[in-house]
Amino acid sequence: MMEEAKKVSDFGADVFGAEAIKTYLSKETAKKLLATIEGGKPLDPAISGEVAHAIKHWAMDRGATHYTHWFLPMTGSTAEKHDSFLEMKDGEPIMAFSGKNLIVGEPDASSFPSGGIRSTFEARGYTAWDPTSPAFIKRHSNGATLCIPTAFCAYTGEALDKKTPLLRSMQALDNSLKRLMKLFGKDEAHTGCTLGAEQEYFLVDKKYYEKRPDLVLTGRTLFGAPSAKGQQLEDHYFGTIPDRILSFMNDVERELWKLGIPAKTRHNEVAPAQFELAPQFEELNLASDHNMLVMDTLRNVAEKYGLKCLLHEKPYAGINGSGKHNNWSVSYGGKNLLDPGSNPDENAIFLTILCAIIEAVDKHADLLRAAVAGAGNDHRLGANEAPPAVISIYLGDQLAEVVDRLEKGSGSKAKKSDSMKLGVDILPVLPKDATDRNRTSPFAFTGNKFEFRAPGSSVCCAGPTMVLNTIVAESVDRIAAELEKSGVAGKAKPGEHTTAFHAALQKILQETLKAHKRVIFNGNGYEADWITEAAKRGLPNATNTVEALKALTKKENAALFKKYGVMSERELKSRYEILSEDYATRVRIEGTCARDMASEMILPAVKGEYLKTAQACAAAKAVDVTSGTLALGEDLVELGSGLDALKTGIKKLDEALGGTDMPAVLTAMQALRTTVDTLEHHVADAKWPLPKYRDMLFLY
Ligand code: ADP
Ligand code: MG
Repeated sequence: MMEEAKKVSDFGADVFGAEAIKTYLSKETAKKLLATIEGGKPLDPAISGEVAHAIKHWAMDRGATHYTHWFLPMTGSTAEKHDSFLEMKDGEPIMAFSGKNLIVGEPDASSFPSGGIRSTFEARGYTAWDPTSPAFIKRHSNGATLCIPTAFCAYTGEALDKKTPLLRSMQALDNSLKRLMKLFGKDEAHTGCTLGAEQEYFLVDKKYYEKRPDLVLTGRTLFGAPSAKGQQLEDHYFGTIPDRILSFMNDVERELWKLGIPAKTRHNEVAPAQFELAPQFEELNLASDHNMLVMDTLRNVAEKYGLKCLLHEKPYAGINGSGKHNNWSVSYGGKNLLDPGSNPDENAIFLTILCAIIEAVDKHADLLRAAVAGAGNDHRLGANEAPPAVISIYLGDQLAEVVDRLEKGSGSKAKKSDSMKLGVDILPVLPKDATDRNRTSPFAFTGNKFEFRAPGSSVCCAGPTMVLNTIVAESVDRIAAELEKSGVAGKAKPGEHTTAFHAALQKILQETLKAHKRVIFNGNGYEADWITEAAKRGLPNATNTVEALKALTKKENAALFKKYGVMSERELKSRYEILSEDYATRVRIEGTCARDMASEMILPAVKGEYLKTAQACAAAKAVDVTSGTLALGEDLVELGSGLDALKTGIKKLDEALGGTDMPAVLTAMQALRTTVDTLEHHVADAKWPLPKYRDMLFLY
């Protein structure tokens, strides 16, 4: 007998999802609300009062006394401003929550980054309910808050958050796909974008964390000599998980399940004290919100175990940093378009979407790079632990061969086995073999989806996926327009395509591949040769955030976002300003923190050791003992020159901090770090003021 699948009893218990909707709303209203959620339709204002009332009751049944509009401001984290349900009516306290409370909020948002969009005199910001991402309960040790996912915009309607452009980009892709799929004779359907975000993170013992001002203030260690044992033995990846960590993970997953987040996989990552959590994929907007909650939950639950969760891209130098692989795909009418079909017609659609993606990634590699730019990720990209900063596509040998044959087409000279004819040939079965996966590519085809591996561990998924949707919307739209021009599309009955249609499509795809195949690279992305080869191919290589963000200032990119209704010129410009400033601010905080730690913690420790050594040396000489003085003398020279270098390094960093050249600040920090990390070996362990890598990296 087949074992019956058991329902996880509290999965989604803290989410106002289908089950709660059916329990707390009248049948009719429930139906309307579910249609809104499932179809992405606008909410009927007539039912908002009843929905609000139901949500309030549902939330109060779960102990909530407050509610908040929950949104994704440009800071890259989440924001919430809590209001209680409490209202005084005729001198009596009541718990109230109106339709208006649910649908719009007016936080005084002047302190959120707006990149010049909103000045303080018009400080009003609006949050607007996004019914496609369900309300949820956030619990704390003595209560709970109802959270309502919202979009956040200025008084003028301009987006001040990450969600609004994401939702618009999904609309753009939907428009383009509708146009294309009609030409394939498909009935009009709903476009679905999907995302599975693999989240990497580090854990560190709280007792060490608290003694590291760099971790507390910047999320990464600014100093620290390598531990004798790091990741050389390759014994951490997929290794046995210690009980304390496993209990932590279990706790995290149970919290996530309550929030309806399908956490699925957990394992040790490559670096010591590094781990990964991967959920099952979901609809993109929801998955993006859910990833924000995953990060929150990891941080919160860690506290319970005396741990701190580090989501920075590079908490430790010399060992791997953390990424967030964005597994992304597109479906139409529920069918994954990146799943190669089993008949010529489905194959043609798959290959069209594939070519559109190849075109999009080649044409807009700069935007994809900009979407993953940030002070933290700069330490990771191109450091032979993560993909290089050059954006390329990995297809795998088999799909690369298919694409090659498609490009060769059915010309009379080509041998049959060499070419692929759309509408006639069937794709070979592409094995989804994990071992064949290339881990060095920033953008890899993995069987039925693309895996964008460049995003850093702390990024909000909405940014990179918004770019992906937009650039693919553009190339799908272009291919559809070409097909329309050919005059052969859409003439056949649905599902029955003429040879002429397939021939026209094949010609378009061949031209697309000819123009954009340079972005395909199936080799090892970590090899230096590839960077040289990529330069020859003319692929951009923005090695730091300052370079990468320039993509947002290009006229053609502003035109792209505008054309597809994703962002106005002003919105894009504001993002450029916000991200540039965020980068500069973060580097400045790091530089200042490094300077302060060096002068207030390291310098005194080295001076102490120097004095002690000098005193020992003098004491020996005073009693005419020469043995030992050679060693003491040597130590004194090493400490002394280290001390001089330290002082110089601090001064140089201080000078750099006086200017606005952030790469210069980073260079000065690096020089200072080299000096400090050497000195770490010259000062008594008990006198070193910071927990060391060897202390922090091995958890039990
Ligand atoms: P890896 O080998 O990179 O660790 P896994 O197979 O463990 O990859 O997981 C990759 C992620 O991709 C998971 O979150 C999974 O749910 C997600 N995924 C699978 N199919 C799709 C899809 N069609 N769209 C988006 N994400 C998907
Ligand atoms: Mg992966």
